[in-house]
Amino acid sequence: MSAQQTIHVGGEWRSAASGATREIIDPADATVFALVAEGGTEDTDAAVAAARRAFDEGEWPRTPVAERAALLRRVADLLQRNREALGALESRDAGKTLEEGRVDVDCVADAFRYFADLVMNESGGRVVDAGSDEIHSVVVHEPVGVCALITPWNYPLLQASWKIAPALAAGNTFVVKPSEITPLTTVELIHLLEEAGLPDGVANIVTGAGDPVGARLAEHPDVDLVSFTGGLSSGTKVMRAAADSVKKVALELGGKNPNVVFADACESDEDFDTAVDQALNAAFIHSGQVCSAGSRLIVEESLRERFVGELARRAEKIRLGRGTDHGVECGPLVSPQQLAKTEEYVASALAEGAVLRAGGRRPEGEGYEGYFYRPTVLDQCHREMRVVREEVFGPVLTVETFRTEDEAVALANDTEYGLAGAVWTADPGRARRVAGRLRHGTVWINDFHPYLPQAEWGGYGKSGIGRELGPAGLAEYREAKHIYQNLAPRPVRWFAG
Ligand code: NAD
Repeated sequence: MSAQQTIHVGGEWRSAASGATREIIDPADATVFALVAEGGTEDTDAAVAAARRAFDEGEWPRTPVAERAALLRRVADLLQRNREALGALESRDAGKTLEEGRVDVDCVADAFRYFADLVMNESGGRVVDAGSDEIHSVVVHEPVGVCALITPWNYPLLQASWKIAPALAAGNTFVVKPSEITPLTTVELIHLLEEAGLPDGVANIVTGAGDPVGARLAEHPDVDLVSFTGGLSSGTKVMRAAADSVKKVALELGGKNPNVVFADACESDEDFDTAVDQALNAAFIHSGQVCSAGSRLIVEESLRERFVGELARRAEKIRLGRGTDHGVECGPLVSPQQLAKTEEYVASALAEGAVLRAGGRRPEGEGYEGYFYRPTVLDQCHREMRVVREEVFGPVLTVETFRTEDEAVALANDTEYGLAGAVWTADPGRARRVAGRLRHGTVWINDFHPYLPQAEWGGYGKSGIGRELGPAGLAEYREAKHIYQNLAPRPVRWFAG
């Protein structure tokens, strides 16, 4: 395969029909390090046709569950075998640290194993009591068909796998369109699926821009489901494009995630250290380019000065650099656009009265030729500020304060999003009360960021529609069918003649 043959259709690797290519940039030094095919509408239509054929005529949807599960497990093993190479590629492409790249590969392998186990442990149908022993009624689940899977740049391999693993486990065929900024590990994953023995045409990939490739997938009449992870504005376009053909739509969109800290969570020095450490991690891992980043610190007023002072001190010490360099804790932002957007949000926050406690600038000197920005803490924020309401997707933490539990909950829920949030408290009753009142798809108590493949992931409000992971993450890729069998048919005599 030459570098530009990154489109995979019906088992064959190709360049773009137009011959166009796209340069892939290393965000740590702003240099080109790979070239991929820039697919267009023609490539997309060919990929959908291949997936359609493989679904309608191919063996995969009818392959016994045990064989499908075995293939998913082989993929997990291949991912582990390639852990170092994939982790390093993800680190370079997305600008994350090498360790984060490796952890992503582990999580991806876990997702493949989880969905393999899930389908293996199912009963295969639910018998319904129809009230008569002359009726046999059963509900079965079937693959939905051809799936279009559209993914973002921040967790390229992980987001693709949260879709690909359940889609395959359920017996679907698919076309995946990775982000044009970070497509490389998804291309590698398709190679691993081939190596694991997936039949031709089941897994197809088109590298290229959101419009036309993603837009065409969303509207294509031969696509049965579109599962999209990305920003709110692209997500609404996908939903509109999918409307005419009434396809199933799953959306995993952005977040503006509150991290609520009560003073009682920090009574000992050790607990204080833990809460500060986790607040840093919540906001700044992967330079804040995380859909569930804890970018809104909502801290009890009496604790504010001590907490924010220590947080800002530690934020200033975070070591930036190329993700693969030893000792680096945070990589660059993914693109010049992301850097400019971050700078613009910080400027608007300062103009609206926020107080800068850390960062607020690009680092200077050698080694920072890429899109780096210092972890930034903005104190004295309030909920009318743009930086508090909108997703920055950069290393920017805003600080708001509260005096009562009700006030904390009201602030934490005052967002159009609803992806994730956390509450820190030593009071178990309060922890459960607040967790119960937060309108977010994931709530952490005295923690931030962990997720489990067994537990659903997704958002309330404008954070999306549907869920990934867990049993609901498999159900997205299925249709339910009720089969009602009359064992003793007789005339109904509704009509006299
Ligand atoms: P984006 O919306 O710009 O792009 C996401 C994908 O959609 C890309 O592949 C892009 O090419 C494609 N796309 C763009 N326009 C399209 C269109 N009109 N039709 C179809 N596809 C189109 O998002 P991004 O900047 O790559 O990713 C960051 C966003 O993703 C953030 O908002 C983040 O919160 C969100 N995200 C959410 C989750 C989650 O689990 N909820 C996870 C990761 C990222």
